[in-house]
Amino acid sequence: MSGLGPAGGGATFHGVKMNKLLTKGKRLDFEEACRLWDLDLLTLGQAAQGVRRRIVPEPRVTFVIDRNINYTNVCVSGCRFCAFYRAPGSPEGYVLTWEELAEKLAELKAHGGSGVLLQGGLNPDLPFDYYEKLVSFIRDSGLAVHGFSPPEISFLARENDLTLPEVIRRLRDAGLSSIPGGGAEILVDRVRRLLSPNKCTSREWLAVMAAAHREGLRTSATMMFGHLETRRERIEHLFKVRDLQDETGGFTAFIPWTYQPGGTSLGGEATGAVEYLRTLAVSRLVLDNVPHLQVSWVTQGPKVAQIALSFGVDDFGSTMLEENVVAATGVGFRLDRAEIEALIRQAGYEPQVRDHRYNIRGQ
Ligand code: SF4
Repeated sequence: MSGLGPAGGGATFHGVKMNKLLTKGKRLDFEEACRLWDLDLLTLGQAAQGVRRRIVPEPRVTFVIDRNINYTNVCVSGCRFCAFYRAPGSPEGYVLTWEELAEKLAELKAHGGSGVLLQGGLNPDLPFDYYEKLVSFIRDSGLAVHGFSPPEISFLARENDLTLPEVIRRLRDAGLSSIPGGGAEILVDRVRRLLSPNKCTSREWLAVMAAAHREGLRTSATMMFGHLETRRERIEHLFKVRDLQDETGGFTAFIPWTYQPGGTSLGGEATGAVEYLRTLAVSRLVLDNVPHLQVSWVTQGPKVAQIALSFGVDDFGSTMLEENVVAATGVGFRLDRAEIEALIRQAGYEPQVRDHRYNIRGQ
């Protein structure tokens, strides 16, 4: 592919006009998707906006009022990109007390929040009924629980000799309403073995999501990129999400975010804004069956997040009253509700508050 101008220009791909290929709804195959990286930034952005308009035609950008609650930072996984966890026995390890949890929930409710993003480390000292109590405690406070990424669910199944559907059913019965797509990193085991050898494999990550979708829980999917993976492996990741979505239809949104090296044992450089925006656009183009694409302002900051609204994004994530995992790397972007709404309006869109299942809650 060479001499590519803006979308709609003379650019061709296997003799087909790029504009036709990318905006007429033709599904990209794997090799076509890999060659998207050859396109220039603005062509990718325009094409991604075409898909965004087809899937979400309204000029709106949604966000949720929530907080992240990390019930424990004790973790046996030891992922090389993580600055948040502490090994079992560390004096800096914690499990939130019920009083601390109640305070956090009360603060969120005072801010008009609808739910909690609940995640923790893989803590071997917590019994299964702790998780059921945790979920019902939050549910009984009137807040939805968007909780436990696939590595946690896979860990709970293994530690308690339960199947994935059994873990999911018991948590759902306790009040779990949806599952965040964390812990995906890159769904290619070559990369996972290097980054997080003790975490679930890509097959297990997908198996948790398939089981959750079959049990009637909607989930998001994430991709943490910009570390050891190749661009082709990012496309592999996208195709694994797309294939499962074809089967179950259970994914609500895709959330790509960039690896933050501060304080991690892996180290290295943070990925820049241009590569981030290109990856967002490629994600929107490949994932033609996932309803929403979410920007990661917590890693990119408000200005890049605003620009991302021209690269296929229709969701601004959350107000994140509390965030600990990215903050542990030293990246400290914070935005409140008024700032998020102003950023969305300045970019020409109408802000709308949603819940964790992407139902619109109103202004
Ligand atoms: S990313 Fe999650 S699983 Fe990995 S070390 Fe950190 S807390 Fe543990």
